Amino acid sequence: MLSVDQARDAIFREISGGGLEVLPLGTALGRYLGSEFRAHRASPDFDQSAMDGYAVRHDDAFSGAELIVAGRQAAGRDLEVECGPKCAVRVFTGAPIPLGASAVVMQEDVEQLDSNRIRIRESCREGEFIRFQGEDHCAGQVLAPMGSFISAAMIGALASQGLDQVRVGVAPAVRILTTGDELVDVSSEEELRPGEIYNSNAKMLEGLVKGLGINAVEATHANDEPGAVRDLVEGALSVADMVILAGGVSVGDRDLVKAALDGAGAKTILWRVNVRPGKPFLYARRGKASVFGLPGNPVSAFVTFHLFVAPAIRKWMGAAQDSWLPGACVCRLDGTYRNRGTRPHYLTGQMSQKGSYFRALGIQQSHAIGSLALVNGMVRVGPGEEVETGEEVDVFPV
Ligand code: AMP
Ligand code: MG
Repeated sequence: MLSVDQARDAIFREISGGGLEVLPLGTALGRYLGSEFRAHRASPDFDQSAMDGYAVRHDDAFSGAELIVAGRQAAGRDLEVECGPKCAVRVFTGAPIPLGASAVVMQEDVEQLDSNRIRIRESCREGEFIRFQGEDHCAGQVLAPMGSFISAAMIGALASQGLDQVRVGVAPAVRILTTGDELVDVSSEEELRPGEIYNSNAKMLEGLVKGLGINAVEATHANDEPGAVRDLVEGALSVADMVILAGGVSVGDRDLVKAALDGAGAKTILWRVNVRPGKPFLYARRGKASVFGLPGNPVSAFVTFHLFVAPAIRKWMGAAQDSWLPGACVCRLDGTYRNRGTRPHYLTGQMSQKGSYFRALGIQQSHAIGSLALVNGMVRVGPGEEVETGEEVDVFPV
């Protein structure tokens, strides 16, 4: 059986980028830069005041010195007044530094004598409270490489350069398919009949996909009937770049997904991975489309989404290689756990708000979806390994 890494590598080998598009900045959140981000103007773009106060010649501004206020320089205005010897210019945060000035004294360090005279309380150093042109970055400087994640902070940096659109990797069209006679849509008006359960995976997977910055996602469902599953798979493969199936991929009589995929001409690249939960995971291809077959048990579907689907989608969307997998946070374990099995076990749990502790939640069984409600991290425990309270573990944010 393939290991998680081997399976992921096999999937990465099949995936190439989906191409590039130009988006308005406001809609680019969650995408990846399609080219490097190079500043075309410096930041700050001109010397400016870091404080509300007075621009001065620093040599003149010793403790007790009296200076004439020669005028005022507002933010957002071109230079309006010079700072001559023994003079000061009233300035506000972000205002251009008047010609002749070499420091800013903050208003708290100044005594107002009358409407055009001040006394300096504390002497100041050359350059004090001036934000110098280019001290953040210069024009031409690369601020982020191609493939960087477009966070809200990145959008701020792009906007500071006056960019209102950005070239990004395209997002895939995703179809989520669920199968199972026992499943009922959450919007159903009818009471559940004995043996029925709600189709939680459809909603969970839709949320997971949207969390990757993808809007083009739709979920459809079929009962365990060969023709219906075949139509479901065929319909999805004809429109989607990524098909995410949940349920029907193990070996039960009613597991019709493999047969439907074979019938649709999809080639199985891998089936079954040495992992708990999630062993029946399957990956197939038809043309450029990827098919991820996740086990139906909700925790298995959740874990395998994070282990295999999300990294593959990130690669497809043009993410730089070092961000295909999320970085881990180091936390101390709250609780003790021994993996007596032969497969690595991914514990699902919660990092404490204080950030430094991780606690596995609930019974750690593949069907236990209630325990997922507060989950925000996963920890891998190798076969035969025991991890104890206080021990440091790598937590993968989910
Ligand atoms: P399967 O992989 O189809 O054999 O399903 C394994 C378990 O997961 C069964 O208990 C199913 O009822 C459950 N299951 C399958 N699909 C879903 C779904 N979409 N939502 C919630 N539970 C599911
Ligand atoms: Mg089923």
